[in-house]
Amino acid sequence: MSEYDYIIVGAGIIGLTTAYYLSKWDKGSRILVVDKGPGPASGDTSKSAAAFRVFFTSRINMYLARSSVSFYEEIQRNGFDLSLRRVGYLFMADKRKMEELKPGLELADKLGLEYKVIEPAELKEKLGVRVEVEGTEEAEILDAKDIVAGILIPQAGTLMPDKLATYYYEKTREAGVQYEFDTKVTGFILEPRKPIGIEGEPFPWQDKRVSGIITENGREFKARKKVIVAAGAWTPYLLEPIGVDSFSRPKKRQIFVVKAETDEQRRVLFAKGLNEFGVAPMMILPNMAYMRPAPEEVSFWTGYSDDIGRPYTLEEEPVPEERFYTYTIHPLISVYFPQFEGVKPSSMWAGHYDLSPDKQPVVCEADSSDLVIAAGTSGSGILKADAIGRIAAAVALGWDTVELYDGTVFHTKWLSYRERQVDKEYLVI
Ligand SMILES: Cc1cc2nc3c(=O)[nH]c(=O)nc-3n(C[C@H](O)[C@H](O)[C@H](O)COP(=O)(O)OP(=O)(O)OC[C@H]3O[C@@H](n4cnc5c(N)ncnc54)[C@H](O)[C@@H]3O)c2cc1C
Repeated sequence: MSEYDYIIVGAGIIGLTTAYYLSKWDKGSRILVVDKGPGPASGDTSKSAAAFRVFFTSRINMYLARSSVSFYEEIQRNGFDLSLRRVGYLFMADKRKMEELKPGLELADKLGLEYKVIEPAELKEKLGVRVEVEGTEEAEILDAKDIVAGILIPQAGTLMPDKLATYYYEKTREAGVQYEFDTKVTGFILEPRKPIGIEGEPFPWQDKRVSGIITENGREFKARKKVIVAAGAWTPYLLEPIGVDSFSRPKKRQIFVVKAETDEQRRVLFAKGLNEFGVAPMMILPNMAYMRPAPEEVSFWTGYSDDIGRPYTLEEEPVPEERFYTYTIHPLISVYFPQFEGVKPSSMWAGHYDLSPDKQPVVCEADSSDLVIAAGTSGSGILKADAIGRIAAAVALGWDTVELYDGTVFHTKWLSYRERQVDKEYLVI
């Protein structure tokens, strides 16, 4: 049996950032990261649209995003290319959406976050978006309303999640963190804190701790200090057998790539005057379908988060549903961008959001068991990963507060499930 100080289950972006900060803050400690995949970021991290923004309606999400994004910008400034481009996020709002955006805008004003309101005429001129849709047959069927404004968030854009994962992976390797890939964790070792030497320990009444992991091929690894579960969408299935609730559940999410082949479509993709790159920002339509620019592929990545009717289930190898594009994303997009009417996806993939009920991460120790949960990233785990990794490492170290990259002092209990302090989040995309 091998012994470590910390064992992290999951080499997705959350496991990687957690390993990074643990290796920095508990220097010399032995850290093992275990993943069932063949390498780092083989789960949902590589399925992501990897768009980032600092704009949320919850102050907590705003803190996590703001500091993480600043850190990623610093990484890139220092010469490690993340393909990070501040192309901006553009929320196109009808009257209803404008109301929903208000708490986020008020919070942005309080925190001094920049945004710009764009008139419908300018949106039409720069992006070719159809702003007046009411009265058309499609709009009637889809309940689509006229766009009354665009809210452009400049501190937002896109990056490559694999490159971000590589950064933390390489740094942790240099710091001596060990990795076991192609290794599926199937259970945990539970031990009494005060053994009495009777077979069958630990008994239900004994104070116990999670002292290690058991893998599919029967290997056991022990953790002297903490076991950290950062298994994304798989977290609840790993923890339920030992009676631990991760307060998060998976929901399938899909991306369909749409090529900009005609001049009209390319005019949308290579829109001028909205950022320094001469491309469209990440666009969120009033119906919440999104179009993420991928100019290097002359494409948009399109997506939509369906809620009621979409079960909370995990598919081991999630399969994209072309029907979902044809009957949902395509009509929702073409009502505002008729340039993309009739376009079929050139490729597609699917993954999961790991959703907590309030759409904010769950990072805490489960009932003084030495088991730390870092999950519930709720569809924005890439853009918040640096801060989540710091908080998860701080929880593992038993700290009450931790300083995020931008200097924000974060109370670790804010993301716990017993003393949680979060606001409402309306902007899950
Ligand atoms: C379609 C889509 C679009 C998205 N768009 C964005 C976006 O634009 N911006 C953004 O910030 N986020 C986005 N996300 C969310 C983002 O991808 C996730 O929040 C993030 O990747 C979560 O990271 P993680 O480390 O928690 O999970 P993962 O990356 O899934 O890592 C968990 C790891 O645990 C491993 N694991 C699981 N079970 C076991 C086991 N039993 N034994 C060993 N290893 C195990 C898995 O193999 C996996 O590698 C999107 C997600 C999807 C699916």
